[in-house]
Amino acid sequence: MTFKKIVLIMAMHSEADPIRDALELEEMDKLHPSLPMDSYKGKIGQTELLLLVNGVDPRFQVDSIGTQPATLATFAAIQAWQPDLILNAGTCGAFKSKGAEIAKVYWGNKVIHHDRRISIPGFREYGVGDYPVFTDQALAQKLEMEFATISSGNSLDMCDTDYQILDQEERVVKEMEAAGIAYVAELMQVPYLGIKSVTDLVDGGMLAQDEFLLHLKNSSLALQQKVLALLQEISIK
Ligand code: SAH
Repeated sequence: MTFKKIVLIMAMHSEADPIRDALELEEMDKLHPSLPMDSYKGKIGQTELLLLVNGVDPRFQVDSIGTQPATLATFAAIQAWQPDLILNAGTCGAFKSKGAEIAKVYWGNKVIHHDRRISIPGFREYGVGDYPVFTDQALAQKLEMEFATISSGNSLDMCDTDYQILDQEERVVKEMEAAGIAYVAELMQVPYLGIKSVTDLVDGGMLAQDEFLLHLKNSSLALQQKVLALLQEISIK
């Protein structure tokens, strides 16, 4: 399956820069003067690629990570560019006990929230989300990516309840944007494809923030390689 216009949404510049540089993407005007997102464009064969990095928060001067900026970026990008695919790439935490390793890259076959626990009839499912995702088993195999549930929450750390919810999934990665993006993609009827590279092992005994920073570079390079290979496969020659 190929796509004509792909929007790639990424949270952090350190994750996105290797991809922007490899594809020699050109910086564009901001989507909106008040929004922190940075935009870049380029081509892969006949396919147009737009990269949106969630940008630096104007007040706190750090990358705008988390579901809120991701949600906003996705809506603004779909409105401005009408893509036929939303690709979301980023880093994540994962479980050693479920076979994860640092810099392993997973393709999401399910996207949920683990921090929206609402025990009121009907709202439980709304809270979990379970948004539709685009998958291709043969392509995942060709690119040597395993499928995993991508679970979003707005904290880097994890409480016991988060752990119990995550542990119910066969293979699962933990990050902070996918569910916000997949939510908008479903509303706007654009397919969502998420791939995530492991920066930290949540059951590995090291503090997530220390392990994240230690492996951010390696993990972003592994992500870059998978994103480039994937884009080759899904672009129009
Ligand atoms: N301390 C870091 C901030 C990174 S926060 C810094 O100052 O540079 C984590 C970012 O990477 C989020 O965008 C999230 O999607 C992803 N991520 C990586 N590992 C994660 C984990 N264990 N839990 C949640 N998000 C994680």
